Amino acid sequence: MAVFTCANCLLPLTGSLRRARPSADAGKRSGHRTAPPGITRGTYAADPDGGFLLHPDDAPGTAPHPDHRRRNGCCGLDGLDGPNLVCSACGTEVATRQSDCWTPNLIALTAGAVGAASRDSR
Ligand SMILES: [Zn+2]
Ligand SMILES: [Zn+2]
Repeated sequence: MAVFTCANCLLPLTGSLRRARPSADAGKRSGHRTAPPGITRGTYAADPDGGFLLHPDDAPGTAPHPDHRRRNGCCGLDGLDGPNLVCSACGTEVATRQSDCWTPNLIALTAGAVGAASRDSR
């Protein structure tokens, strides 16, 4: 298990999450609908760029970015304008949420902006 924390203020951004693989893409979508989350709640997956992918409801320690230009999208957030979630305690940009009708539906923690406190008993 791992808890992801803000690299700036060290407060937790998530609960305890279990590492898992992303589930297969739900496939073709039609119309303006947000995809089902690609990550199971309570788990995370490593992103090839060094960040981590979470279920959209698994980052209660984050808040929407105060700059509305970061929150563009059609039906939701497209996440293309930079991180759109900040640490709710200190305001540091920590993650990008994608929830638009043509994007995955997930939260991508920014590599370097978060730390992982392992709860493994290895
Ligand atoms: Zn913080
Ligand atoms: Zn749309």
